[in-house]
Amino acid sequence: MKDPISELIACVVQDELSKNLFCLSKEPITYRKVNYTAPGHRKNSLYEADDYITETLESYGYKVEKEKCSAQAFRRDTSKPLASQYSSPMPEDPFYDIYNLYAKKEGSKYPDKIIVFIAHKDSQSWIDSPGAYDNAVGTVAIMEIARIIKDYPSNCSFWFIFCNEEHTPWTSVTAAQNAKSRGDNIVAVFNIDSLGGKSYEDIDSGKKTNVTLYTTPEGEKIADMMSLVNKKYKIGLDQRKCMRSSPGDDDGSFINAGFLNAIVNVGSFPYMDPNYHAETDIPEFVDIQNVFMSTKLSLACGVYFDINYKP
Ligand SMILES: [Zn+2]
Repeated sequence: MKDPISELIACVVQDELSKNLFCLSKEPITYRKVNYTAPGHRKNSLYEADDYITETLESYGYKVEKEKCSAQAFRRDTSKPLASQYSSPMPEDPFYDIYNLYAKKEGSKYPDKIIVFIAHKDSQSWIDSPGAYDNAVGTVAIMEIARIIKDYPSNCSFWFIFCNEEHTPWTSVTAAQNAKSRGDNIVAVFNIDSLGGKSYEDIDSGKKTNVTLYTTPEGEKIADMMSLVNKKYKIGLDQRKCMRSSPGDDDGSFINAGFLNAIVNVGSFPYMDPNYHAETDIPEFVDIQNVFMSTKLSLACGVYFDINYKP
């Protein structure tokens, strides 16, 4: 059989990524936080983002399911460094209904085996940041991957999950725990967060970076697959893997629920974006070409995993 990966990654459109990025982190939606409603708007900005993501996925032919969770906004502690000014809410702070969004595509050979792509779609609930790198880029990368493989006859099923990680508790925990209690057969989890975010030094030297973080031996195999695919399909990223000592981020929610085949793709590690968690995390600062290449790599690896999957 012909290898479909080169053709699929050639379908990633940089302008599509850019359009969705600016729509979700500048205009018409500036923030994606449940505790912020733009002046004159009827819905809070997180619900507006949910509507935008849902309508876009529906235009690709998906049916979007919602999973209700309850969460609070973080408080802000300005005595801490800017990157970590989130602090626990107080019990009297309001609880909000916030949602995970699911778009699913059924596999033809192993429909009960599921490859998950997940990104947190919300922006920081404690500060007015557009969260362009963190994590509008991961959101638009997964929307683009979903668009491209909609009609590709994959062996396994693909689930695209859009969760919330900048409110508390993280809603990926609900997604992972529900998957566990249903007995879902998740064979891989690709978390996509802050693609292309890196230091001024790396920006100035024109580096295009991607780091795959893993916690488990199963995750390390996927990280090695990322490197292999980067070379095999000549994607051209400065790709490396890095082990973290304990599960973190939305991939960690799945590892903690017993799904050990989980990794996260990020732009740098330790994360070096100078505008991290700041009001200045704006889409104009995003290295969209890096996001474009990293989207190709994540798509290529997901499909490579699917083609080589053996139950
Ligand atoms: Zn964050």
